[in-house]
Amino acid sequence: MSIISYKNGKLHMESIALENIAEKYGTPVYCYSTEQLADNYHAYQKAMRDVTTDDKFTICYACKANSNQAVIKMLGRLGAGMDVVSGGEMLRAFKAGIKPEKIVFSGIGKNENELTKAIKNGILQINVECESELGMISKIATQEGKKVQIAFRINPDVNAKTHAKITTGLRENKFGIDIQTAPKLYAKAKEMPGIVPTGVAVHIGSQLTELEPFAEAFKRVAALVVELREQGHLITTVDVGGGLGITYKDETPPEISQYAALIRDIILPLKVHVIMEPGRYIAGNAGVLLTRVLHIKEGQGKKFMIVDAAMNDLMRPSLYDAYHPIIPCNEPGNKSLKVVYDVVGPVCETGDTFLTDAEFPKMETGGLLAIMVSGAYGAVMSSNYNSRPLVPEVLVSDEQFDLIRKIQKTEDLVNNDLIPEWLA
Ligand SMILES: *Cc1c(COP(=O)(O)O)cnc(C)c1O
Repeated sequence: MSIISYKNGKLHMESIALENIAEKYGTPVYCYSTEQLADNYHAYQKAMRDVTTDDKFTICYACKANSNQAVIKMLGRLGAGMDVVSGGEMLRAFKAGIKPEKIVFSGIGKNENELTKAIKNGILQINVECESELGMISKIATQEGKKVQIAFRINPDVNAKTHAKITTGLRENKFGIDIQTAPKLYAKAKEMPGIVPTGVAVHIGSQLTELEPFAEAFKRVAALVVELREQGHLITTVDVGGGLGITYKDETPPEISQYAALIRDIILPLKVHVIMEPGRYIAGNAGVLLTRVLHIKEGQGKKFMIVDAAMNDLMRPSLYDAYHPIIPCNEPGNKSLKVVYDVVGPVCETGDTFLTDAEFPKMETGGLLAIMVSGAYGAVMSSNYNSRPLVPEVLVSDEQFDLIRKIQKTEDLVNNDLIPEWLA
């Protein structure tokens, strides 16, 4: 039985009818399955265990995909480390009990405050994105009397063949260090106080549905490791990033076993410790966004289903033209009439559209729907646009479910504004 499926005509997540969550906490609301999160993590781990005899890898969940502390804590209990991209995510990881030696700090614009926290706490590795950052790390490390293990994030100039906004490994993208000039920077880093260059990192983009760009990037990274070693560097880790795609509609991303085989063939012969940073793969299909139909509106040759979730709650459709399947929480009967709707949110933007010309059973005001595969890059990107409160999040575990993000009251949100005295 699949973890999110119909039982007795009602859509369930594990043993919970999603309708019960909607009734208890209202809509829109995000729901995540601990079982699916764990299954995804274990699939990644198993694929790697199948290609390595010794556990020479660390899975650092890229928590920007879903950084709720309950999710981090639950994955941490399974043994996951974390890949963080800001001081805020680092704090969440610490609070959720992740050990500093299991935290990798990525991100293109780290500030002094964030780097100081990372260095003081002695995290596993900092993935450096430019020379200026290297200088900042050296300065802080010297002040703190620490030696910091760094990797440079390499830009291998490989096309990830994904959406332009989540392609990160092309020369024209802001990310990483040009692979040709990398050896020069490693030489420089080696001479700088407080810095130990021990790793090479790469991450060429997100939602990759082909294996070939990974292979190309890994080959270039492996060649660089060989070159750096010839120049006398002790390279002990390769961080292969994340990016493995998942199925939203009809994509056929590589199997995790194929991906692991690539690492076996290209990276493991280097005898390095492998750091992996999956985000979407872990969290994506573990979450749904529940929403209710507010109104059915008959347009000119169009029927609009206006739902109570919007682009501020789930930004991916408007930001990336992303497709999310939407299904009714009441199982449609075989003979139910099919109606074609555009599913749209209440925000005042035409981009606030979840689906165009999609077939549903006839829906009415109050009908409950699940926007599927919303566990990654969903709640984390939500905003207060149109003065809409942040969506609550709920974690399901078998027969239990609990709120894991406070319900934000509209009054609290509005009361955050301050009026200067001279305007009062
Ligand atoms: C976003 C990101 C990831 C995770 O990407 P997914 O596509 O969610 O697996 C991993 N590493 C870095 C550096 C990232 O920026």
